[in-house]
Amino acid sequence: MAYLPLFHNSEHLRALIIGGGRVALRRAKALIHAQVTCDVVAPDCQAELAALIDDNGGAVQQQAFNPEVISKRYQLVLALTDNSDINAAIAEQAKALDLMVNVADDPSAGNVIFGATVDRTPLTIAINNGGASPVLSRLLRQQLDQFVPKHYGALAALVGRYRDEVKQALPKESDRVAFWESVLQGSVAEALFSGQHDVAEGLLKKSLLNADKHKSNGEVYLIGAGPGDPDLLTLRAFRLLQQADVVLYDALVSAEVMDLVPDRAERIYVGKRRANHSVPQDGINQLLVDHALLGKRVARLKGGDPFIFGRGGEEIEKLAAHQVPFQVVPGITAASGCSAYGGIPLTHRDYAQSVRFVTGQLKDGSIALEWPALAVENQTLVFYMGLKGLPIICEQLMAHGMDPNMPAALVEKGTTQDQRVITSDLTNMPTTMTQETVMSPSLFIVGRVVNLHDKLAWFASEREA
Ligand code: SAH
Repeated sequence: MAYLPLFHNSEHLRALIIGGGRVALRRAKALIHAQVTCDVVAPDCQAELAALIDDNGGAVQQQAFNPEVISKRYQLVLALTDNSDINAAIAEQAKALDLMVNVADDPSAGNVIFGATVDRTPLTIAINNGGASPVLSRLLRQQLDQFVPKHYGALAALVGRYRDEVKQALPKESDRVAFWESVLQGSVAEALFSGQHDVAEGLLKKSLLNADKHKSNGEVYLIGAGPGDPDLLTLRAFRLLQQADVVLYDALVSAEVMDLVPDRAERIYVGKRRANHSVPQDGINQLLVDHALLGKRVARLKGGDPFIFGRGGEEIEKLAAHQVPFQVVPGITAASGCSAYGGIPLTHRDYAQSVRFVTGQLKDGSIALEWPALAVENQTLVFYMGLKGLPIICEQLMAHGMDPNMPAALVEKGTTQDQRVITSDLTNMPTTMTQETVMSPSLFIVGRVVNLHDKLAWFASEREA
């Protein structure tokens, strides 16, 4: 059987629902939502359905089906009884009158079927697989529902109101397409997605005034790319990445995440680890501004979360100074990712009531930290950039009174296929680290919670298997 995907103007439709159970109620709600007037014929129509029909201008006939109830008065008939013979008879009668008919338990007996829908009125997505697998349609519906921004309906409604005005202002079709693309994927849409309806409308009007100058608004998305596993990107990060014209990325952004960058986008590596080719921070800030001022949508991808040891603050300061619109998308920071994938909870009722994220970066061969505040019990310490300084960190913690047997872990390349978790204690970790030739990026975790790793290790080994 073949199906034509078609959206029917339903405002003046009248439908006859034959059946009064749960499915009938669900269908009646969908039909009434689409402004269809519904009548019901059923010997035992449930009270909620009867009330719904009544409230919406329809009639309920409490009686068994007989062919006379189907007439040309209706455009659509739904066969929803629990008797397949009756449903087949309904379908036959309706088809004989050239009506649309849907049979719930046997789609092929009717001539129309209901798609699984994602509703962002006025935007609707309907899915059909010819009745092969309603479960598959439902799963796909759930995926789309998560993926399609909740505010797309409001966005569709907003641009719908300006269609005519834009048509007049931009008579050339190619200009209009460019205009709408920049509205639907740029600052107007983003303002709406963050709930600022008035700002969105203001920006749309402003772009319309400037539209003839062909100057689209550039902007910057400062995106947390997470610690490595691309599944850890947020939905917003993924969406913004898809619409980027230029992507500036760090050494910490994994290859798997970079695979999600669209082919058409220009990629600029600004990592700091390849010392010889590194772009200094000022240079990165300037690149962001320059590309945005050219009208481009710039995605600045940073490992983990942009505001945790990421210098994200400095980059947006510069953008703000140049009045470049930007937004910051949080990411899963290395501590969260490594903790979850390494089986080391960062806090625990019994062992740690607080957690500290600390930079372990060396300055002139030493680390200036408040050691007495760090060397305490019932706290988990997470050192970022602490690989080089690890021997100093262990030594200082012990010198300030921390138990030399305090458990410690190194999580190397956390959340990636190559993740390693190496456990030891403060006394022995410097040697263990050398023996195991632990590489960057690695996170150093100190605290009693590390002991839980053994209990939870099955989880890590399952992943490796
Ligand atoms: N903004 C980042 C941190 C940047 S600092 C975030 O929120 O995660 C860089 C340090 O982060 C590295 O030296 C390392 O200590 C840690 N790190 C980042 N990704 C990591 C990973 N996948 N595994 C282990 N440590 C990681």
